Amino acid sequence: MKDILSIDIHTHILPEHIPDFKSKFGYGGFIHLDHHKTGCARMMMDDRFFREVGCNCWDPKARMDECDEQGVHVQVLSTVPVMFAYWAQAHHTHTLSKFLNDHIAGIIEKHPKRFVGLGTLPMQAPDLAIEELTRCKKIGLKGIQIGSHINDWNLNAPELFPIFQACEELDMPIFVHPWDMMGQDKMSRYWLPWLVGMPAETSLAICSMIFGGVFERLPKLRVAFAHGGGSFPATIGRVQHGFDVRPDLCAIDNNRPPSDYIGRFWLDSLVHAPEVMDLIVNLVGADRVALGTDYPFPLGELQPGKLIKSMNYPLEKTSQLLHGSALSWLGMDKKNFL
Ligand SMILES: [Zn+2]
Repeated sequence: MKDILSIDIHTHILPEHIPDFKSKFGYGGFIHLDHHKTGCARMMMDDRFFREVGCNCWDPKARMDECDEQGVHVQVLSTVPVMFAYWAQAHHTHTLSKFLNDHIAGIIEKHPKRFVGLGTLPMQAPDLAIEELTRCKKIGLKGIQIGSHINDWNLNAPELFPIFQACEELDMPIFVHPWDMMGQDKMSRYWLPWLVGMPAETSLAICSMIFGGVFERLPKLRVAFAHGGGSFPATIGRVQHGFDVRPDLCAIDNNRPPSDYIGRFWLDSLVHAPEVMDLIVNLVGADRVALGTDYPFPLGELQPGKLIKSMNYPLEKTSQLLHGSALSWLGMDKKNFL
């Protein structure tokens, strides 16, 4: 099964050296890497420790070596969501986005058969975001990654619609990643922001795009959601029932039922449990579930594709999950990678 083309749509990368944006911009809150020993670095938010990372977080060679060992042929690269910096002054986020996007574009240029790139945008300033989106397309990135919300805007916000419209026009698919998790003041223990907050964020994003009519108004926009759609798949019955019994609350911006949009968007396969893999594949279809691992982070699938391969699905379905769905979401062809 190692020979089946495997494309991992959910992996994160950082530049090895991140400028000191705090001194550059005159205020803090940005991430930099403290290379305190060979092959390891501390992600620091100003002076505060955020996360320890290994060289596979920045070194394409280390990543390709691991991919070769693990049977992954292509990684779709995106930044780490803590880099979004939507909270910062928009022109600073724009500068930061350009830096991160150029970094990823440089890697793609060197290794076009091993990596595909997603850009990040200053989403809090839609005009700048569209400008950078257009540039991302020019420098060879194949889509963008955005957060599950943008400051006070959920993804139904009218301010964001022109960005989504531009993504559709430019044929740039979107990967929605949970971040800045809701309810963190109630989740100080047990890693709950990651275990409870993140899945809720992803459902927030999906419901906002459905109820807000984004999918309805942009039929060609291709969107994939991280972590198997978070808590959405298990609660689709509740969401649909809510729409049925309280259209006065749910159907105010879009009167089509939520279930109509099942199969309209992609989910990654990062669910860690065979029962849930069956659930999402049965719900949205194998052609809408794509391998995604959250590489190189520990809450990801540590042996990429292991869950999909353990499901004993027919070969065609397995191939669909390992690369077919990724290709259709990215709008790419298998021969790009052979
Ligand atoms: Zn991730």
